[in-house]
Amino acid sequence: MPHFFISSKDINSDIAVITDSKNYHHIARVLRAKTGEMLTLIDENQTQYKVVIEKIDSKSITTKVAAAQKSSHYLNLQLILVQGVLKNDAQNLVVQKATELGIKEIVPVITDNCVIKQSTAAQKSAKWQKIANEAAKQCERSDYLKVLPAVSLDDIINSSDYDIKIACVERTQKLPMKACLRNIKVNSDDKIAVIIGPEGGFSARELQLLEHAGDIYKVSLGNLILRAETAAITALSNVIYELEDDTELH
Ligand code: SAH
Repeated sequence: MPHFFISSKDINSDIAVITDSKNYHHIARVLRAKTGEMLTLIDENQTQYKVVIEKIDSKSITTKVAAAQKSSHYLNLQLILVQGVLKNDAQNLVVQKATELGIKEIVPVITDNCVIKQSTAAQKSAKWQKIANEAAKQCERSDYLKVLPAVSLDDIINSSDYDIKIACVERTQKLPMKACLRNIKVNSDDKIAVIIGPEGGFSARELQLLEHAGDIYKVSLGNLILRAETAAITALSNVIYELEDDTELH
């Protein structure tokens, strides 16, 4: 059952009124929900509400809160994917799967071998955000993933926004992701950027830039050459497996 993102302003004591037109459409028209049925709502403070539908009007749905609790559906890691922009389906897949994995942001990066150019990426940004929002709802994560505006690889290399940067480089890298991660000390609020190239990989020029960037770890995901979308999902999963503090899973 998907949950629905609402604003805490829509809740007054134990009554939650759903007025957002997309939520309304999904609940009333797509799910054809009826009074007496239960829904799960979540607000910007990540409080999750189990509510019972009391009334469905032409534009709003009135519900009564039956239970409220802090959601635990989030990743305990500030993880960001910096992705060389891929062709349509592959990029959409990466956005969806990265959202399910709980990462905080996707930064599309236009690299030398990207088929998609900056202006097209800007046009596609809203579509990617929509895919991320749908995936967030569907997998019940307690927050949205942000799709940021596309930047250049130089911007990422020069950026001080990240505490740890890990670039995945096929063929030439001998440092396995696992060995790299086991030597990194992370604090819970460190921002970790995982950098993946586009379908054609990084250009020789970009590999040089990455090589000279002293604060970027360059790692291998193994001896096989993965498609960019597989590499993104694998790299993020590896980081989560190794670095997430999962002592409080429930
Ligand atoms: N066309 C390239 C492959 C590009 S794969 C070639 O034939 O060499 C696309 C991206 O996925 C790469 O830029 C890299 O970031 C990542 N990737 C794929 N396989 C990888 C591996 N074994 N190790 C590290 N990164 C990998």
